[in-house]
Amino acid sequence: MTEKCSIELALLLPDVPNERDTCVGRLIELLQAEGLEKIHLVHQNNSPHLCLHHDPQHFSVARVRELAQAAGAKIADRFRHESLRIDGMGCPICATVIEHTLQRMEGILEASVSYAAERLHLEYDSEKIERSAIVRRIAALGYVVLEEGRATGWFAEHREIIFSGTAGLLLLLGWLTELAGLPGNLSLGLLLGSYAAGGFYTLRDAWQGLKTRSFDIDILMIVAAAGAAALGAWAEGALLLFLFSLGHALEHMAMDRARAAIEALAELAPKTALVQRDGGEVEIRVEELLRGDRVIIKPGSRIPTDGRVLSGSSVVDQSPLTGESIPVDKQQNDPVFAGTVNGEGALVVEVTRLARESTLGRMVEMVAEAQMQKSPTQHFTDRFERLFVPVILAGTALLVALPLLIGYSFDESFYRAMAVLVAASPCALAIATPSAVLAGIARAARDGVLIKGGAHLENLGSLDAIAFDKTGTLTVGKPKVTEVVAVEGSEENLLKIAATVEARSAHPLAQAVVTEAKRRGLVWNEAREVETITGQGLRTRLDGKNIAVGNAKLFAGESLPETLLQHDTQLTSAGRTTMFIQADGHFLGVLAFADTPRDGVRAVLDHLHKIGIRQTIMLTGDNEHVGRAIGDAVGIDEVQASLTPEDKVRAIEVLAAHHGRVAMVGDGVNDAPAMARATVGIAMGGAGTDVALETADVALMADDLSKLPFAVALSRASKRIIRQNLWLSLGVVVLLIPITLAGLAGIGMAVAIHEGSTLIVVVNALRLLAYRREDM
Ligand code: ADP
Ligand code: MG
Repeated sequence: MTEKCSIELALLLPDVPNERDTCVGRLIELLQAEGLEKIHLVHQNNSPHLCLHHDPQHFSVARVRELAQAAGAKIADRFRHESLRIDGMGCPICATVIEHTLQRMEGILEASVSYAAERLHLEYDSEKIERSAIVRRIAALGYVVLEEGRATGWFAEHREIIFSGTAGLLLLLGWLTELAGLPGNLSLGLLLGSYAAGGFYTLRDAWQGLKTRSFDIDILMIVAAAGAAALGAWAEGALLLFLFSLGHALEHMAMDRARAAIEALAELAPKTALVQRDGGEVEIRVEELLRGDRVIIKPGSRIPTDGRVLSGSSVVDQSPLTGESIPVDKQQNDPVFAGTVNGEGALVVEVTRLARESTLGRMVEMVAEAQMQKSPTQHFTDRFERLFVPVILAGTALLVALPLLIGYSFDESFYRAMAVLVAASPCALAIATPSAVLAGIARAARDGVLIKGGAHLENLGSLDAIAFDKTGTLTVGKPKVTEVVAVEGSEENLLKIAATVEARSAHPLAQAVVTEAKRRGLVWNEAREVETITGQGLRTRLDGKNIAVGNAKLFAGESLPETLLQHDTQLTSAGRTTMFIQADGHFLGVLAFADTPRDGVRAVLDHLHKIGIRQTIMLTGDNEHVGRAIGDAVGIDEVQASLTPEDKVRAIEVLAAHHGRVAMVGDGVNDAPAMARATVGIAMGGAGTDVALETADVALMADDLSKLPFAVALSRASKRIIRQNLWLSLGVVVLLIPITLAGLAGIGMAVAIHEGSTLIVVVNALRLLAYRREDM
């Protein structure tokens, strides 16, 4: 005899980002060692729970909870998860350097750094290593860990451009004094100042590069500038450093803008909330809100928490979260979300989620994580760089040595080699893809489209066909019972039996049955245990009888009575979904349902065609007639009906073979396998259901399809920009190498073009931030 008890995972391991984290496994292991029999993950009320099976003779429920809490605390205390902001990374190579250094440290379980997002995701064993040791190690490499929440000052944000500007100014003054024929020492002094200002950050980055023995263009710049100085060409050296530092500073400012676009999302939620406590009203910080607190929301104010409306009614502008342009009606029991804007009415809202787990907060977190993931193109450019850089370095060595042998002067061959090396440095290539991914994902998030990684962004931008689930995706998903046909017993009895079973199911048809039974004033006792046969129906035992409700597939192999079949044919040809009810082998009758197509689906499908999607397909578990009727109403290209969830997976494979890249759009609940099999799994209603948010590759936060064409078009634009960036950065390298080799362009020109192309690539990517729906 065993008993079960379930505990929310977030209560046991508050810092663990998701249920796939290794700490969940550690927790389960630890609890099994305590003698609990079986432990597994379940989803309850939309959040992951740990279900603990135990023998009541050995453990009381209270004891199990105590054990779980203690084990959770032990693991959370030992294995820490952190996401840190890193400042001072000059080139994408810095990210790799930090990653590799940290990964080699004892006690660090995971370290991944995104140059574009300037973030480090860290998991470490606090018994083996202290946080301060990690921060010190990063500092020793020459980077700074920014403590969260502390605003960086104006100077800190602009110091690079200030230094670079100073270098430029001093260079100009030095040049002018020389022109004016003033004493040479004055102009030399000014140029030296220019060297210091322009070379400060370059020297720092070069030093870090040297320490970690990684190839870095900064090293090259310092060598070139030192070489120029040694040859007495101070003005030329100062120009190099100035151009280089300017390029870098502008690139960083541009990337900061992309990052700020995401941080702005997080800023949407108010910092405080007005709550009813002990009969009065108090203003508290949102972090102190507890589940069940009643929050007062004044007209026109931003909603500070995820919750449920207790009283009042209003319309709420959810566009900050979901991108929906039309405000949504809110009545009692409707969900509201942190960061959205209340309209004219006052509301009292019960808190359902703590501040740190709000939909908005998690979306921001997921976006930050998404930007860290490398896309296929980035993997490709990374590989390319690894091959290309050593080749270039070897080539340069030859370039210095060979001309010397055939009688050229050292000055000349050295300068030429430096120019070629600058020309060949693939900095623009390295930043081409991540900058576009960063900007594309940030832009999508602002319109309520959550794209969970660069790979998904690229895939979404190269789709050929899109498959849709029917119920809840193309239709409203709130079917109504339209006919009740009893062939044995009364209509009431039929409906009552159906309700008894369906009260246990979350399927939209089940809700329709329950609603209809209630409307007719029927009362029933819920069945205790029901068996769900996905895509077919339900079975249970009730008062000693075997009850089955579902579609024809559930009764395959059984012969259905003639009268029942006649009713069924009549109902289905009228476009109804039907459900048979059977008790102990006797068919009692059939229920018919109708669902309505969603508004605007036709326009969405048209739009998708216009932007290049070749085929749209409905995949449904419902009957052919209903599929056709809805399909015609919304104007879909193809309907595949009577599919089980496995059939849907196979259908996706066949579609992929025919059309190429295929997306599956669904609710993320019973379509999860098909979504996983598709090139991209897209879920809608991300703001309402956590499952949709967690399982999909792309989540539309609003519960409608209107953002789908936007998402596809934006991703296509992102792909285009990535391609342009690759061509541009490769093209510049390919053109500039022979030009510098031939001595047609000097090192100054090479630096200007090199930095110029890097900047163009980043600015080109940032155009995505300004992407408008009209651009589609
Ligand atoms: P769709 O592809 O339209 O979203 P589903 O895969 O969710 O449909 O379900 C397919 C069919 O399975 C339904 O049309 C219905 O006939 C049957 N079915 C699913 N769940 C239930 C249930 N709880 N009770 C009765 N029939 C069900
Ligand atoms: Mg469905």
